[in-house]
Amino acid sequence: MTPDTDMAAGAAERLAKVQANMAAAAREARRNPADVGLIAVSKTFDGPEILPVLQAGQREFGENRVQEAKAKWPQLKSEFPDVRLHLIGPLQSNKAKEAVELFDAIHSLDRPKIARAIAEEMRRQGKTLALFIQVNTGEEPQKAGIAPRELPELLRLCRDELGLSVAGLMCIPPVDEEPAIHFAFLSKLAVENGLTGLSMGMSDDYETAVTFGATHVRVGSAIFGSRPKA
Ligand SMILES: *Cc1c(COP(=O)(O)O)cnc(C)c1O
Repeated sequence: MTPDTDMAAGAAERLAKVQANMAAAAREARRNPADVGLIAVSKTFDGPEILPVLQAGQREFGENRVQEAKAKWPQLKSEFPDVRLHLIGPLQSNKAKEAVELFDAIHSLDRPKIARAIAEEMRRQGKTLALFIQVNTGEEPQKAGIAPRELPELLRLCRDELGLSVAGLMCIPPVDEEPAIHFAFLSKLAVENGLTGLSMGMSDDYETAVTFGATHVRVGSAIFGSRPKA
């Protein structure tokens, strides 16, 4: 085998494994596996590494940087037009135009300024994205996301003032804490606020997230292999 087909088999196999694990976790929790979507997080990986995952049938992908996504996805999308792209990293309001052009969903809405910029761009472009509000469930000062106590006010702004439909909530638990506690908390916040979408769970904890009701898991390294350290 050439190194290329080696890599292809590896990624396709890892993708299948993640899908099987998700389905098993869903059944274990008496949930329908079809209710949990897999977002393959392709940040730092390029076309040749992403292609085998596309060829294996995966269509939902996550990127954390607008510029990086812009550099690689238009070409891949021309070959696979039914791809859906999820922005999972922080968004600056001056990038809202490009983000709305390229992405189908944004998981990092976390402040009024961004909500206003996204609403304005969606209106201007006549395009509707699925929107998730990122909640800083661990209240970590360095981390993105709105504080839990400020969530109702941001939701009110989105829904009542800006006319945005919010799909759900997203969180990234603190690295040194039990993720299950944060997944349970995010799920409770969603119920309290009348939201059904839950974007939670990464390579190390996506099965736990499924147990706690995730509707979207964001899995990178378990599919694409490890990334160089930032
Ligand atoms: C990188 C990233 C992921 C995927 O992380 P892995 O541990 O590689 O699965 C998920 N969510 C966000 C917000 C990320 O930045």
